[in-house]
Amino acid sequence: MEKNLKKAYYVIIGILILLFFNKEEEFYKNIKIIENPDDILVLVNKNNQLLSSYIPNNLESISLKYANKDKYLKKEAKMAFEKLSEDASKLGYRIVAVSAYRDYNYQNQLFNYYVKEKGLEYALECSAKPGHSEHQTGLSLDVEGSNKDYDSFENSKEFDWMKNNSYKYGFILRYPKGKEHITGFKYEPWHYRYVGKDIAKYIYENNLTLEEYFKKI
Ligand SMILES: [Zn+2]
Repeated sequence: MEKNLKKAYYVIIGILILLFFNKEEEFYKNIKIIENPDDILVLVNKNNQLLSSYIPNNLESISLKYANKDKYLKKEAKMAFEKLSEDASKLGYRIVAVSAYRDYNYQNQLFNYYVKEKGLEYALECSAKPGHSEHQTGLSLDVEGSNKDYDSFENSKEFDWMKNNSYKYGFILRYPKGKEHITGFKYEPWHYRYVGKDIAKYIYENNLTLEEYFKKI
């Protein structure tokens, strides 16, 4: 009897140790509703959700010199992106927004489209559930380079420039390679997020994600 108790004791300790070391965020669990959606440092991810009614109040359209169609960003992000794209073009690069602000309903349609066409697993890996997409903040955008295919932006000459210079304009590469377990999103070389110059520089220099930045401060 005592032996069995001892055994049970070790099993419980073992489980507790496993739980302790396996504290990685569980995506789409314990979801919090975001209380500061207008903050340029708002954290939107699989555990922090924007309300379906949230629409940024100062959306402006990106000049068609720097976007492939009518695309909107919050004013500060739009100004910063236009400057980035303008400076890049002077160096012979082509950096164009192909997706920017997306409202809740659009994200809902997009997610459901992926579920229908490619299955739930694919949708969860490659898209975000509505309310969990950073595109709803008006602070994020997807870009394409001179190869005109955002999906292979990594292979364009613009990618290296963007990776090492976008922080100077206040943008971060939001979903870096090797940090998928932290961000909850696969590596997306084309997706950038405006956080302002100071924080972007800090995140770039310390090789962080936005999630890690918030844990650090
Ligand atoms: Zn994106």
